[in-house]
Amino acid sequence: MAGLRILSITSEIFPLVKTGGLADVAGALPLALAGLDCEMVSLVPGYPAVMEALSGRRRVHDFADLFGGPARLWRAKAGPLELYVLDGAHLYQRKGNPYLGPDGLDWPDNAQRFAALGFVGAAIGRGLDPKFLPDVVHAHDWQAGLAPVYLHYGAPPRPKTVITVHNLAFQGRFDAALLASLRLPPEAFTMEGVEYFGGIGFLKGALAHSDAITTVSPTYAVEILGSEAGMGLDGLLRQRAGALHGILNGLDGEAWNPETDVHLAARYKRAVMARARAHNKLALQRRLGLAADPHALLLGVVSRLSEQKGLDLLLEAMADFADSPVQLALLGSGDPQIQQGFARLAAGAPQRYACSFSYDEPLAHMIQGGSDAFLVPSRFEPCGLTQLAALRYGAIPVVAHVGGLADTVIDANAAALQAGVATGVAFSPVTRDALSAALRRTLALYRQPKIWRKLQANGMVADFSWEQPARQYAALYRHLVAA
Ligand code: ADP
Repeated sequence: MAGLRILSITSEIFPLVKTGGLADVAGALPLALAGLDCEMVSLVPGYPAVMEALSGRRRVHDFADLFGGPARLWRAKAGPLELYVLDGAHLYQRKGNPYLGPDGLDWPDNAQRFAALGFVGAAIGRGLDPKFLPDVVHAHDWQAGLAPVYLHYGAPPRPKTVITVHNLAFQGRFDAALLASLRLPPEAFTMEGVEYFGGIGFLKGALAHSDAITTVSPTYAVEILGSEAGMGLDGLLRQRAGALHGILNGLDGEAWNPETDVHLAARYKRAVMARARAHNKLALQRRLGLAADPHALLLGVVSRLSEQKGLDLLLEAMADFADSPVQLALLGSGDPQIQQGFARLAAGAPQRYACSFSYDEPLAHMIQGGSDAFLVPSRFEPCGLTQLAALRYGAIPVVAHVGGLADTVIDANAAALQAGVATGVAFSPVTRDALSAALRRTLALYRQPKIWRKLQANGMVADFSWEQPARQYAALYRHLVAA
């Protein structure tokens, strides 16, 4: 079959705009697909950071009025990324977080901002740029969710459509009164369409009207068919189970490579890992004001601070280790209450607990390269990328046995240790006590250097590159186009 053209629609893309794993995926997938005869161009909003990074712009189309103001569509490049950029000052020329205002609340016009993204994505899907007619339109999360909906209700031609759910907790729900102003036809407002608990559901509409649905790990694809992880959408997902696929995310092997990582005090291959990591641990302890103790078990966390990530459980569990040789290096931002809890913990024993409440890419790398164990105690986790980086960097992941964490970390139970395949510590159920027990187990493993080194080595050689996932996406696109 000839090469495929795919339009990816995403509200963030690494390295230009990132709030989480979506950006990592959106940035890595086009490059991974290039060798598989799939040309992927990404449509992104023209945030200030995006506009500043563009080169070789070509004007594609002017919109006189796109949901409240004029807008222009550019085709451009940013580094190796091929982009369409939706340049609408009234929608995207705002500094800071792409979704939240300075008050920490959603921008009041997020419905218009992301309907515009989907609307223009659908237009490109129908041939707005004669130089790039997509075979497949691939929308990511609710922010791009209306693209398959506009395509469904619009005139042909209609490319095949895919919606990827990176996190079902974010659904894009808005007031039904917006229907006409979002240029959705009245017939879209039904149980089979965008209607969702009396309002408009962007993600719900996408799940109803896309040819394929993917989630970012096989286990999460099964979990969301149940009422707990399904978050109100499990009924629809069960109806569409035949179109649902779980494709595990890869890790960007260039951004996360301990051999070349410029943020590390010492870069390393597996053979020299022990010495280099000891050096990095000391650098991390110094940077964060922790006691320079080579024997303490240094726990690392890099995470959004939210209910989902289970860090409230960690805060409680740390009380059980007040007299143990354990240190904590936490980097995160989000929920003010969780933040306060960790701030209090750190204030009580600053040489043992260090917390940085910021978004700090270099420090994230230092924690991966310098902590002994890396914690991800999520209540649910669609895929999770930080545990993949931890595996690659030789930090032992301690994770809740859910979603993508269950798919990527092999627990050091007796059987796995004996078989020599374990890579980390996994616990279930996701409670304070189970986490505490997992940390005790981690401490015991840490005191057995031979076993610890085997866990590290297993993790470092495990393949979580984009090669396999990219093949799976390419196969899915080809399957859809052939149907
Ligand atoms: P989610 O998308 O749910 O936030 P993921 O594990 O899929 O979680 O992806 C999180 C990504 O964001 C990782 O690349 C991680 O390193 C990064 N990250 C999270 N919080 C921070 C932070 N405070 N500073 C720097 N990077 C962060």
